[in-house]
Amino acid sequence: MKHCNLCGRAVAQNEYRVFTRKRDANGKGLTVCEQCERAQPRCLVCQTPMTAQHLRAGICRACLREGLKCKRCKNSIGGDFLLLNGNDGPYCARCYQNFAPCDICGAPTGDDGVTLADGRVLCARCHKTAITDSREAHELFERVVAGLERSLGLELNVRPQLMLVDHARLIELARTAARENGHDAERVLGLFVRQGRKRFIYLQEDLPRILLIQVVAHEFAHAWQGEQAPLLADHLVREGFAEWVAYKMLQELGAQKKAAQMLQRQDVYGQGLREMLQVERQSSISGVLKFLRAKPVHSAIV
Ligand SMILES: [Zn+2]
Ligand SMILES: [Zn+2]
Ligand SMILES: [Zn+2]
Ligand SMILES: [Zn+2]
Ligand SMILES: [Zn+2]
Repeated sequence: MKHCNLCGRAVAQNEYRVFTRKRDANGKGLTVCEQCERAQPRCLVCQTPMTAQHLRAGICRACLREGLKCKRCKNSIGGDFLLLNGNDGPYCARCYQNFAPCDICGAPTGDDGVTLADGRVLCARCHKTAITDSREAHELFERVVAGLERSLGLELNVRPQLMLVDHARLIELARTAARENGHDAERVLGLFVRQGRKRFIYLQEDLPRILLIQVVAHEFAHAWQGEQAPLLADHLVREGFAEWVAYKMLQELGAQKKAAQMLQRQDVYGQGLREMLQVERQSSISGVLKFLRAKPVHSAIV
C-alpha cells in the first residue's frame, strides 16, 4: 500500500500520482494523493504539489538546491528573477530588460520571437501552438462548446457564432462593449456580443491553443448568463462565473499551470473565481448554476 507523501493518507492504485523531477528521472518521485494534488500549493518553478512549509517564497527545496536557471537564456540565476503570471519562469533580470515582452504572455521573447503582420511580437512558445488556421479554430470552438454542454450542463437556445478578428478590430469592438460590461478593452482577447437576435463570440486571431480554449469557455459562459441570468449585474459574480467555467475546462484538459495562474489573480477575475469555487464546494456544479439563476438582481447596472 502506498501513502501520500504530503498528508500520509493510504492511497489505492488509482488515487495518486507520482511526480518525478526532470533531473532525477530514476528517483522514486513524490507520491501525491488526488486530494493533495487539487488542494496543495505548487512549487512555482517545477509545479510539484507541496505542503506550504516545504516551500520558500513559493519554490520547493529541490528546485532551490538545484539552483534556478533562467527559462529564456538557460543561465544560472544568482540575483533577481521574475515569475510572470505568478508561475511562469523564472526569468533573469537581464533577459527581462533586453528582450521585448511577448504580446500574449509577457515573457521575454529573445531571438526566436516572431513578429506578426500587425507588429505585435509573440514568444516562440505562444507562437508554436497559435491556431492560425480559421477552420481549426472553428473546430476547436465546437469542441469546447460540446465539452461545456456535456460536463457543466451549459446549454443555450441560441448558439453564438465564432468570429475571428484581428487585434485592432477586437479592441474597437471591446471599447464599445466596455461601457456596458466593464472589461478592460486593451487587454481583451475575446468578447461576447448580442446583435438583435444573433449572438457572436469574437476572438483575436492566432491565439495559442490553451488560451483559445480558455477565452472561448469564458465568453460562452457570458452567453449562457445572457439567457439564464440576464439581469444579473454583480460584476464580481458575472466575471467569477465566466472564469469558473474556463477554469473547469482547463482542469478537465489537465492544463494545471494555466489553471493555477487563473486562481492566483488578485483582480476581479481571480476573486470571482475563488468565490465560485467556494459555492461549488458547498454545493455542486449544478449548485453553481442554480446560484447564478437565483442571485438577486442589483438595481444599479454599471
Ligand atoms: Zn495527500
Ligand atoms: Zn520545485
Ligand atoms: Zn535569462
Ligand atoms: Zn508568449
Ligand atoms: Zn468576462
